[in-house]
Amino acid sequence: MREIILGKSVKGVDIKGYAFGDENCFNKTLMIGCLHGVEPQSKEICDLYINEVKDKSFPDDAYLLLIPCLNPDGLALKTRGNTNGVDLNRNFPSSGWKSIPVSGNSAYYPGIKPASEPETKIVVDLINKQNFKKLIAIHTNHFIQFPNPPMINYDGEQSRELAEKISVATGLIAHHDVGYPTPGSLGIWVGKDLKKISVTVELDDDKNTDELYKKHGSFFEVGILEI
Ligand SMILES: [Zn+2]
Repeated sequence: MREIILGKSVKGVDIKGYAFGDENCFNKTLMIGCLHGVEPQSKEICDLYINEVKDKSFPDDAYLLLIPCLNPDGLALKTRGNTNGVDLNRNFPSSGWKSIPVSGNSAYYPGIKPASEPETKIVVDLINKQNFKKLIAIHTNHFIQFPNPPMINYDGEQSRELAEKISVATGLIAHHDVGYPTPGSLGIWVGKDLKKISVTVELDDDKNTDELYKKHGSFFEVGILEI
């Protein structure tokens, strides 16, 4: 495992990635937790996985870059958005990006333009420059305006097969529709615009991280190994 400083948040906090396996292989996976600061379990579950596997051997024919926390400022502030109040998961350059929240709720503020935020830019650069085969974003279903059940959400028909395999392993339903509009989300940009495999794991916000890891942590292994 290699620790990589990928960039800094608005407040200058390091955003770290943890790389496993062979960067030059075909089966490359990008996993990202804590896009929303109010979803700490989505970072903590990545930390539990790293702790479990850091000293073990990793498959030769797979590569994982895991970013446990894309939004360290929001995590410290206990806000959905970053220091600028931007919802990072509405700040990606998808074709449907809008300058105002679809919901009218400022917690979903998408920023002044797509990829206006340094945290978003880190991921846009990674996806544009490295040939990842799959993206897996990790959230909890913490809601401000729109409730949704825990699920394995996927964007684009090309993402269905992986979502269904993760669904079988985790016991969470696979569904293509999270239930409300998400223009500028990471999942939509990667799955619908770039047409790559894009799966979003939505964990139960009411559960603690140990329980979530025990019940659903198999999404890491399935997500990494399946193509
Ligand atoms: Zn979220």
